[in-house]
Amino acid sequence: MPLDPSRTVAELKELRDLTGDDHGAQRVAWTETWERGRVWLRDKLAATGATHEIDEAGNQWFTLPGDSERALLIGGHLDSVPNGGWLDGCLDVLAGVEVLRRVAENGTPPLTVRLVDWADEEGARFGRSLFGSSAAAGSMTDQDELRQRRDGDGIALPDALAGHGVDLDNALEARRQLENAAAYLELHIEQGPVLESLELPLGVVLGTFGVERHLVTFQGQAAHAGSTPMDQRRDALAGAAKLELEIRRIAKRVGAGAVCTMGGVVTKPGIVTSVVETAECLLDQRHLDATQLAELLSNAEAASRQIAHEEYIEVVWDKIWSIEPIPFDERLIELADESIREVAGTSHRLPSGPLHDAAEVARAGIPTVMLFVQSLRGLSHTRLEDTKEEHLELAVHALDRLTTKTLEAFA
Ligand SMILES: [Zn+2]
Repeated sequence: MPLDPSRTVAELKELRDLTGDDHGAQRVAWTETWERGRVWLRDKLAATGATHEIDEAGNQWFTLPGDSERALLIGGHLDSVPNGGWLDGCLDVLAGVEVLRRVAENGTPPLTVRLVDWADEEGARFGRSLFGSSAAAGSMTDQDELRQRRDGDGIALPDALAGHGVDLDNALEARRQLENAAAYLELHIEQGPVLESLELPLGVVLGTFGVERHLVTFQGQAAHAGSTPMDQRRDALAGAAKLELEIRRIAKRVGAGAVCTMGGVVTKPGIVTSVVETAECLLDQRHLDATQLAELLSNAEAASRQIAHEEYIEVVWDKIWSIEPIPFDERLIELADESIREVAGTSHRLPSGPLHDAAEVARAGIPTVMLFVQSLRGLSHTRLEDTKEEHLELAVHALDRLTTKTLEAFA
């Protein structure tokens, strides 16, 4: 069977009709609708002769044996957020289906080729993203905490998983799936506005951003709004306001894609008749380069101390969460660039703001790259998520080229 990317578009619509409603995709992991999609996927691949297995973390694998046991992996996730889009995650899987069909038709590949449908990438029901891929990568360390998690209806995570044949205690056994992995490829919608603004259909992802997330608390003194002269105030909100504007300058100065966001400020006492005593700021800083990420953080810390000094207030930093940048494989980035240029004329390199399953695989030390296809209006995690059909077809072509090149280069 020659590659037929229009079939991928047709199958995306078929899956949308099977598992969506007027509000969007409803393939939330560990639900009946998700399971329906997973069974449908198995039927789609039956004709390729690929063997099927579900691992201890619920990841679904389809394997075409090659001359070598070393394996080229292509991955994605069928699960969606509630009221999700028709492409996030399942484009990756269904493009992989089409590539697998083409590879199967061409006879035994030099490497084993495996398609993986990762379990619960979104974490929509229990708030734990990248479940299956982190188990396979061996980076899942929060099983004790996961045992306590419950969904909105009070159902415990282990019970929901058990309903789909997954025992949380054994999830890390999924690690053996990556033992023979030679390379990992993932195609995903961009979920942002960059490619559209450049009028380019496709881009190569350089890696996923490192993230520094902190609670920055400015502490001043509550005082009467009427009786306290302007030059005698210790106004915590002034600190927050100055820092919010300063992080923009810091992001610009560090550059190379740096982004800084103050996502929320809570003020106390928060009444109209008082100067603000405490202002709690949620700060999120991201960069693809670890050194520059550290620079974003240290610059913001220094700025906050300077601001506190100017305003006669105090500042305290508490770390909420952080993750290091995860760069993708340089050799695969080159091959992906070539593949995109061959099918679309022009390529573009960009970082990924969101994390993806690919980040977990790369963290496990497996050479990894992702392709992004343009998202219209940059929208995702909504039923308004969309990509031009011609771009979807180009994306399948590019993934197929990249598969061929990777099979040659890594054999
Ligand atoms: Zn996704």
